[in-house]
Amino acid sequence: MADFDVIVIGAGITGLTAAKAAVQSGLRTANIEALMFGGLVVNINELDGETTGSGTDFASNLMMEISDLGVENLSETVSTLAREGDRLKVTTDAGSHQARAVIIASGAKLKRLGIPGEAEFEYKGVSQCADCDGPMYKDEEVVVVGGGDSALQEALVLAEYCKRVHLVHRGAKFSAQQHLVDAIKQHENIRPVWNSVADAILGGQMVEKVRVRNTADNTTVEIPCTGFFAYIGLQPSIEFAPAELARDADGCLVTDANLSTKMPGVFAAGAVRAGYGGLLKHAMADGNTAAKSAKAAVGG
Ligand code: NAP
Repeated sequence: MADFDVIVIGAGITGLTAAKAAVQSGLRTANIEALMFGGLVVNINELDGETTGSGTDFASNLMMEISDLGVENLSETVSTLAREGDRLKVTTDAGSHQARAVIIASGAKLKRLGIPGEAEFEYKGVSQCADCDGPMYKDEEVVVVGGGDSALQEALVLAEYCKRVHLVHRGAKFSAQQHLVDAIKQHENIRPVWNSVADAILGGQMVEKVRVRNTADNTTVEIPCTGFFAYIGLQPSIEFAPAELARDADGCLVTDANLSTKMPGVFAAGAVRAGYGGLLKHAMADGNTAAKSAKAAVGG
C-alpha cells in the first residue's frame, strides 16, 4: 500500500492548487482524480476576473507544474475514506493508499432539474456546456434556466451564436454578479423570462420546445427551441466521504476556518465544502488553506 504524507482527492483547480502547495511545503503528495483534470473550469473558454485565458490552459499549466514538482498523479476512482490507526486509508478502484492527511477537493457536478425530457433528450438538445455545444445552435433558439453566475455566463456565450436565448428564472431578479447582469442587458437576443420554471422538455427525435410555467399566475407557454441548458447550482461529488463527516442542508461538508472536518487529518476545500465562495480565486485560496492545514497536521 502506497504511503503518502497527504492525498488530495480531486484535480480541479482547488485540488491542483492544494497539491502544488502541499508538495512545495515538503509533503509527499498524491493527487487522485477519476476523470480528466481541471474540473468544471475546463468548460470555460474565456475566464473572467483576475485570471484570464481559457480554463483548459489554466488547468493544464497547473497540472504540468504539480507533475514537475513531484506530485504522484493517480487516475483512479475513490470509493471510501476511513481512519485506520494513525493513518487515513483511501480505497480506490485500483487498490488502497494511505496518508497522514487527506484533502477532499473532489468538486461538484451541475445539478439537474429532474423534469420530463431532461434525461431523454440528453445529447439531443439538452446540454450543460455552452462553450462546447453553442456553435451547434447557430441562428437557433435555446432555453437557459437559472439566475446565478453560471446561467448568465453561459447565456452570454450562447447569445454569440443563437438567434434568441430565453433565460428562464424562477425569481424576479438575477442573483448573479452585477457585471454579468449588466452584460445580459446589452444583448437584445437574450430574453429574460421572470418568475417562471421549466416544467417539461418536449420533442420527437430532438428537443423541439420547452413548457414554461409562470409561477405567479400558473399559466404555461411552450417556447419553441432546439437547445436546453439548466444551470441551477452545484451538488458536491463526495459519495466516498465517511458518513460521520457533517454536511449542511445542501450536502456540503462542514469545516472550520482551517478547512478541517470533524475527522482528524481530513480537510475539505472548494465546492465540496459549506460556505465556499464559488469564484476561481476562492478555489485557489481554499487549496492553499487546506494544504497549509494539512502541513500543520502532518508536522515537519
Ligand atoms: P447558484 O449561484 O446556486 O445559482 C443557482 C440559480 O439557479 C439561482 O438563480 C437559483 O434560483 C436557480 N435555481 C436553483 N434551483 C432551481 C430549480 N430547481 N429550478 C429553477 N431554478 C433554480 O449556482 P451557479 O450559478 O451554478 O453558481 C455556483 C457557484 O459558482 C457560485 O458560487 C458562483 O458564484 C460560481 N460561479 C462563478 C462564475 C464566475 O465567476 N464567472 C461563473 C459561474 C459560477 P434562486 O436564486 O431563486 O435560488
